[in-house]
Amino acid sequence: MRTHVGEVLALFREHGELSRTEVIDVSGLSRSTVNQRLAALDTAGLISEIGGGSSTGGRPSSRFAFNRSRAAFLTVDIGATGLVAALCDLGGQPFAHTQRSIDVWEGPRPVLAVVDAAFAELLEEAGGPEVWGIGIGVPGPVEFAAGRVVNPPIMTGWDGFDIAGWFSGYAVPVVVENDANSRAVAESRPRAADAVRHDDLISLKLGTGIGSGLVFNGQIIRGSDGAAGDIGHTRAAVSDSSAPLPCRCGNVGCVEAYAGGWALIRDLAAVGVPAADVAEVVSLVRQGNLEAVRLVRQAGRVLGDAVADLVSILNPESIILSGQLAECGEVLLSGVRERVYQRSLPLATRNLSILVSSLGEFAGVTGLALITADQLFDTGNIDTLLERLAPAA
Ligand SMILES: [Zn+2]
Repeated sequence: MRTHVGEVLALFREHGELSRTEVIDVSGLSRSTVNQRLAALDTAGLISEIGGGSSTGGRPSSRFAFNRSRAAFLTVDIGATGLVAALCDLGGQPFAHTQRSIDVWEGPRPVLAVVDAAFAELLEEAGGPEVWGIGIGVPGPVEFAAGRVVNPPIMTGWDGFDIAGWFSGYAVPVVVENDANSRAVAESRPRAADAVRHDDLISLKLGTGIGSGLVFNGQIIRGSDGAAGDIGHTRAAVSDSSAPLPCRCGNVGCVEAYAGGWALIRDLAAVGVPAADVAEVVSLVRQGNLEAVRLVRQAGRVLGDAVADLVSILNPESIILSGQLAECGEVLLSGVRERVYQRSLPLATRNLSILVSSLGEFAGVTGLALITADQLFDTGNIDTLLERLAPAA
């Protein structure tokens, strides 16, 4: 009977609110089936009836809205040197958040202990909301189905660690996702009722390292094992004759070895401009430090060359830069744009936009909440949720 209740909920997640008649029109289901499904979602508190339905032929049609604040997701976007933890509503909007400095090289246990403490603080601050799921973003390749990191180039000690299992005490579904993928999902979904979905985009996460998330036809491209989009460790197209630079993944000549935050810190040190972290690189650029501006613009070109190939192969509608290094703004963007427009096919760049994310530091946690919601509200899982929420007969 509830086979398609997940599809009806998906309509509310996308549109925010709909009248009964609109649900019938969009879903193609019969009025009696729609009535049943709306009743099931209403009983579970996932949608609520609101006033002011539009009139069709004189009879007002009742109107319902997705009840985003029915429960919450705990999310954490783990970077190499810091993390953002947030409580998000069911629509992915963060409503309580906190940040911590960490060192991802210390391994999973110390870092996840910091996450536990951050989660406890958020839950207390928000007055103990009902939590329906947990989303964990990590800066490395993730075997999505298993919730584990696999052979991460930088996350020493994390290989194969059962991250989802660490959070089993919460007794809710746990999603583990690559940080660039979560950002790509956040960018692709509309944030206002009248906004449009971006079904084909590439999201670049630029911090200490470099990653990319690919959303095409509205779906994350994870590839067969979860490794898709690892642009930072593809070969950099640099034309000088010197030996390729060593990368921290063990290989040489990677894009990250020329354009990653850690590579910029290395190159700045070599010209006598010390920067302790990526945040300092960004502030040097903002202060107009000539060496920093030159190096970041050059990093943008290396990045642009790498992205140009993806643009020709995949023809996205937008490329969106996020992560700390993206705060360099135009200085970085100009290098990326220069190479992409120079090297990609004209048809692939005709309508292409290349811009810095407007989601700022919350891009990661927003995407994680949306992916956790996708899993929880999937047609295969929603029946279990509704049964749990149904009042005892
Ligand atoms: Zn590498």
